[in-house]
Amino acid sequence: MGKLFEEPRPACGGRVVAVAVNTNVWRTYDYLWPADATEPTVGQRVRVPFGKANRKTVGFVVGCDARSQQRELKTVAEVIDPAPQLDETLWRLGEWISQYYLAPLGMTLAAMVPSAVGRHQPRTETVVYLASERRDWPARLGPKQRRLLDELYEARKQGTEPLTLEELLRHSGAGRDSLGSLRGRQIVRFESRPVRLPELADQSEADPFELNADQAAALRALEARLAGGFSATLLYGVTGSGKTEVYIRAVRRVIDSGRQAILLVPEIALATQTMQRLLRRLPRVAVLHSGLTDAQRAFYYQQISEGCASVVVGPRSAVFAPARKCGLIIVDEEHESSYKQDTVPRYHGRDVAVKRASLAGVPVILGSATPSLESLHNVALKRYDMLRLPHRVRGLPMPKLQIVHLRKEMTPGRVELLGRTLTHKMAAALDRGEQIILLMNRRGYASYVFCPSCHWTMSCQHCTRAMVFHQATQLVMCHYCQHTEPLPERCPACRGKLLLFGLGIQRIENELVRKFPAARFARMDSDTMTSARQFRKVFDAFAAGEVDILLGTQMVAKGLDFPRVSLVGIASADTSLVINDFRAAERTFQLIVQVAGRAGRSDLPGEVVAQTLHEDEPAIRFATQHDYDGFAAWEMPLRKDARFPPFARMVRFIVRHEDIDRAEQGANVLAAGLGRLLAGLDVRMLGPQPAAVKRIRNQFRFELQLFFSRPGAVQQAVFPHMEELSREAHAEVTADVDPVNLL
Ligand code: ADP
Ligand code: ZN
Ligand code: ZN
Repeated sequence: MGKLFEEPRPACGGRVVAVAVNTNVWRTYDYLWPADATEPTVGQRVRVPFGKANRKTVGFVVGCDARSQQRELKTVAEVIDPAPQLDETLWRLGEWISQYYLAPLGMTLAAMVPSAVGRHQPRTETVVYLASERRDWPARLGPKQRRLLDELYEARKQGTEPLTLEELLRHSGAGRDSLGSLRGRQIVRFESRPVRLPELADQSEADPFELNADQAAALRALEARLAGGFSATLLYGVTGSGKTEVYIRAVRRVIDSGRQAILLVPEIALATQTMQRLLRRLPRVAVLHSGLTDAQRAFYYQQISEGCASVVVGPRSAVFAPARKCGLIIVDEEHESSYKQDTVPRYHGRDVAVKRASLAGVPVILGSATPSLESLHNVALKRYDMLRLPHRVRGLPMPKLQIVHLRKEMTPGRVELLGRTLTHKMAAALDRGEQIILLMNRRGYASYVFCPSCHWTMSCQHCTRAMVFHQATQLVMCHYCQHTEPLPERCPACRGKLLLFGLGIQRIENELVRKFPAARFARMDSDTMTSARQFRKVFDAFAAGEVDILLGTQMVAKGLDFPRVSLVGIASADTSLVINDFRAAERTFQLIVQVAGRAGRSDLPGEVVAQTLHEDEPAIRFATQHDYDGFAAWEMPLRKDARFPPFARMVRFIVRHEDIDRAEQGANVLAAGLGRLLAGLDVRMLGPQPAAVKRIRNQFRFELQLFFSRPGAVQQAVFPHMEELSREAHAEVTADVDPVNLL
């Protein structure tokens, strides 16, 4: 904000507000507060005319003053929230996210409050009371009316009166007419009230089993922490060790003490039976997922912020749930890269959870069978404690894992993805009537459209990525920008005949049909699964035994618990190894161990076959031994020597422009600017260089990678200058702090 005037501007009646606008700008803007609105408060959400076109844009009041340095103030168009939605802790969390993740404050705050909030009237429902004493009931009542009254009478005795109209009709089996006539005779009375989250009907039902000794010890340790302020605990429990059960009981303790708990899970896990069972055993749960309507979202938000919801379950954005009485945060599968948001603000749900817990002074639990090396490192630094569940429940053994070298298994002259061993074992499992999970971590039918004579490969015209052929649509598709095209008939370069070449999932599907014509299978990948309901359908069919083989991408690796799965096949254990990313080995290890963990979770012994072209790869060897400690001991020194995370912090800048020269020039200017700001700090800079994906949606991309040791060092130096840096670059600049995707 430059000084425009020598003299301070005249007072505006004490009604000027500074607004952080939800758009990619780094400064705040002053607005006049509407004359007819009550006094402004910091944190209130507003809509303001913004930019030359005065587009109505959401923003947050971040300061109130009597005067402004700005000329010609515009007026706030609408006050959305009568009072701030974010409490003190969340407000400070938002400021931290903005600074740590180098994201504009307005965009950050807007990501924390769903836009639907405050835009919907509270939903109401009809509830029914008894309006007369039992002795005054008419002698002559129909059997249905009798049952209605008995239900209500019982509810009064239990202290659960009133009943909602719905539950009363459901429980009594009576119709609306019978109830209507009781109401007409003033024996019962209706009232309308705001909808509340349902209490758990069978809350008093006994837990399905006792905790085993390891679980009980873990729970005791966690209980001790529930009493004492902030703490971070890594719960490292092998697959099938019963972590969920520990969460449930820890959450109950929190609820019993009158507080709320937040449980973060990967989005897809919400559709699994494990989660459905969990939801049935906890009272007043608000489940936040991407399929909610605006009205539902607003309803849950209000229930949470009024303290009616005891538990919030949801994916990464649930970390912003307005639970004012939050007493515990749990992050399940903390190693999951889906916790990282890939648009601004690019926050990591797990790390934000830890920050929120520390601001709120409450414990946080991070659970995983394959903890991220970041979290393991934090244990070594004594920032986190570690609790272990080293065994599967009920003394079940870990599944046996076998590596198969694909090259030795192929029939010469045939392109097959399922080698001899895996094919035989699948046939045997099917004969025994058991179920199979088959992982193929790549979408599409064929990875490339390829010309064998001139080596031309088809790539997207907007991005520099190979296009993938999809058999169902017979179209070629770019997985970055969703651009599709028909399959060319001939090579555009030499008119030669084209080949479809690769290892995609649809190709396996064809092989399955050929090899196991009688088997029933379902496919699960992001092309077939576009909503939570579709997941549920496939999971339910698999659980009911209507599907023999569940074929899928990494989606099938996550938290499935099916007792009849005896065999897990990994078509290619290498697919995540080939990417150019320092976490490639870690991802490969995690994926194999996680998907292997789906086998042998009940009485059937489990077996896993992993096909690979790199059988000596340590990540694969350790994974077949379920040897997390061994893997970590091997990988950590490599990271340390290379000064990669978790031994260094990383910030990646991306500079984008549709003109390649301007993108590159922007990156050079940015590098020079950063060099000035970071002079004297211990920061290593790689680049500027073209990003691994050089072009997305017609934008050329250049990157700068910064590595440094003191957490936050770069952000502190850079945050106050983000506006100049972006302006000087004359191109779009975004920062990605602690990036997980380096493409
Ligand atoms: P994880 O999340 O560690 O992979 P889960 O929490 O899904 O494991 O538990 C695996 C299975 O074991 C579930 O079916 C669960 O109901 C069951 N289970 C959990 N704890 C016990 C226990 N103490 N005794 C018997 N079965 C248990
Ligand atoms: Zn594209
Ligand atoms: Zn050609």
